Amino acid sequence: MSDEPIKYEIAGEWAAHPARNCRGLDRNMFMVERGDTATLDHLRSICDGCPVKVPCAEFAINDATIIGIWGGLSGKERRDLRRQRRLENGEKMRGPRRGTVVKVARCGTLAGYERHRRQEEPTCAECRAARAAYKRYRKDNAA
Ligand code: SF4
Ligand SMILES: [Zn+2]
Repeated sequence: MSDEPIKYEIAGEWAAHPARNCRGLDRNMFMVERGDTATLDHLRSICDGCPVKVPCAEFAINDATIIGIWGGLSGKERRDLRRQRRLENGEKMRGPRRGTVVKVARCGTLAGYERHRRQEEPTCAECRAARAAYKRYRKDNAA
């Protein structure tokens, strides 16, 4: 459904930590829809006290293609951190360089659903199904 488990495989030694707080949890569910602060708080509470919170957050900060909550940080928070670090490093702000492959959220994921909404286009059946699965999971695992 999503690329996230692969991200763990490339993440580094910390991802294999036996006491990682999200071990056994579905990475696809570490997603938050805009304005859903209850879910965000719940996921943050899982990351709080995780023994690999710092390397996990750094990993996700350093890869702009990563989505969802990592190390207790949302995608927006990581974007803000990247911008802040670039400014601190005195680098000029710039868009993607020519030839850069910009990854687009795939259909059949919650991110895909949100991409449709952002672009104000109709959602596709795969994306609606992914969102429904997410909603069900959230309801069954309410904090
Ligand atoms: S910080 Fe959160 S997302 Fe990262 S490994 Fe720990 S529980 Fe999982
Ligand atoms: Zn779609």
